[in-house]
Amino acid sequence: MALRISKPLRGAALDAERMRGLVAWTARTLETEHPVPFGAEIVHTKTGERLMRATNAVRKENDPSSHAELRTVRLACKKLKGFSLKGYTMYTTCEPCPMCMANALWANLDRVVFGTTIADANCFCNQIQIPATEVAHRSDMKCAVVGPVEQALCLTLFTHPNMQRAFRTWSSRKKK
Ligand SMILES: [Zn+2]
Repeated sequence: MALRISKPLRGAALDAERMRGLVAWTARTLETEHPVPFGAEIVHTKTGERLMRATNAVRKENDPSSHAELRTVRLACKKLKGFSLKGYTMYTTCEPCPMCMANALWANLDRVVFGTTIADANCFCNQIQIPATEVAHRSDMKCAVVGPVEQALCLTLFTHPNMQRAFRTWSSRKKK
């Protein structure tokens, strides 16, 4: 059989592959004391080199702003010793909430690629119902918002039995 050299992934296929990697990494929290379905990763837009990744740590750090996206930006900027993430792309397992999307804009990220939607997440926990695209459109900063990507796979983080058990202890859980 002839040797086949696979072409490097581009565009949507590359976004999907990176999202799958992020889901696998985020899923590791499901076996820990603080399971979370929210993970984010920042990579260089051109080279794809990973700068930082982090999960939601609101409970771990007792900090309501420690959402995965905001925390990843915070840690990435600390690493770069700068406040601009121009030239970088963020992947996140869930559409950023208005706080995180605003922070992504302030950070000058090129792109934000998300997995599940705010509406999906809202089936399991409280959310603020403003789409990330709307936050981006109302901003002077330019940032492409792409998603949902690998939505069904990202949803498995929410529906995992350990996550379902954890959601029941989240005091902010929406009462249905
Ligand atoms: Zn957020």
